[in-house]
Amino acid sequence: MAKKMTKRDFIRYALLGGGAVVGLSGMKMFASTMPMPAPGEIKGGVWKWSKEAEFYVPTPRGMRCQLCPNECDIEEGKTGDCRTRVTEDGKLYSIVYGNPCSMHIDPIEKKPLFHFLPQSRAFSVATAGCNLACLNCQNWQISQKSPKETRNYDLMPEKLVDKAASNQCDSIAYTYSEPIVFYEYMYDSARMARDRGIKNVMISAGYIKERPLRQLCRYIDAANIDLKSFSNDIYMRLNAGDLDTVLNTLKVFKEEGVWLEITNLVVPEWTDDLDMIKRMSQWLYKEGFEDTPLHFSRFHPMHKLTHLPATPVSTLNEARQAAKDAGLNYVYVGNVPGSEAENTFCPSCGKKIIWRRGYHILKNHVKDGQCEYCGQSIPGVWH
Ligand code: SF4
Repeated sequence: MAKKMTKRDFIRYALLGGGAVVGLSGMKMFASTMPMPAPGEIKGGVWKWSKEAEFYVPTPRGMRCQLCPNECDIEEGKTGDCRTRVTEDGKLYSIVYGNPCSMHIDPIEKKPLFHFLPQSRAFSVATAGCNLACLNCQNWQISQKSPKETRNYDLMPEKLVDKAASNQCDSIAYTYSEPIVFYEYMYDSARMARDRGIKNVMISAGYIKERPLRQLCRYIDAANIDLKSFSNDIYMRLNAGDLDTVLNTLKVFKEEGVWLEITNLVVPEWTDDLDMIKRMSQWLYKEGFEDTPLHFSRFHPMHKLTHLPATPVSTLNEARQAAKDAGLNYVYVGNVPGSEAENTFCPSCGKKIIWRRGYHILKNHVKDGQCEYCGQSIPGVWH
């Protein structure tokens, strides 16, 4: 029986570094049971944990990866842009399969997922690598690295699921860096976790081609997708991605019935234009996402944007108001502890129905998926 995160757990995880991505330093709780392989361990010219990639086609320029829109042509012995896929002997391999560099138990609220099994525990994993290159990346120490540069655990899918079960986690979260680049590891783990009654959640930028995404949706229960801006130009210059792919990802998750929440990081001088935020919110409403929680998240100076200030709280509140004015029902502000906007309000009677403080739930007035005060149905996946 999975266990809810208690206040004591919460304090313990906060002490272990729960406010930021947790790499090997956050592994204290597993250090005695998990042997640490030497970095750079290679077998037969291919990484020890390699698995043949699922989505690629051979071309005269090498293997063309078909997992994300970058469509890298990867020559023999070379890796793709994400640093996690290598061509060897005319085949494309994932070199991060069973090879995570970060693991931790997090409250589900940290993902953030606010309407999905509140106060439950998510066994969270990440490997090195990412298919984007965001200037503001919060986890660049692992996302902008090759697995050859990180210290990695040997944790095949069965062992990962065992760890989640033995630690009484309701879900496994594929998170921190970019789970799309460890697709095969995530997919196999998610399939096994489903068989064991453990849910799967994916925290991602959503920069993936449609065919692998639809296949993955079979085993993913919930996702939080970064909608980084509402401009193709900004996506290109800030993230090395494109907007249209991410919008399509949102639609596919919705069509496939995966519980979805969206995060928009408001970066000063880049993504804080209120007109753009209004257009984004109007698009979400028009496309039927009015009940999809939207989290406006506060930027802190990071990676290649350390010269910028943190997002003013007033900007986040303006963004939230614009989204509510556009018709979105559940709009939150993140990374601002103590903000009133981290609570859930019933869209019908207006009462505060889930009281939060950071990642901790103080009161929950959603019962059987309904507002306890007026009976309004509150969308989400509830205990
Ligand atoms: S997943 Fe990696 S190798 Fe494949 S296309 Fe995207 S960036 Fe290139």
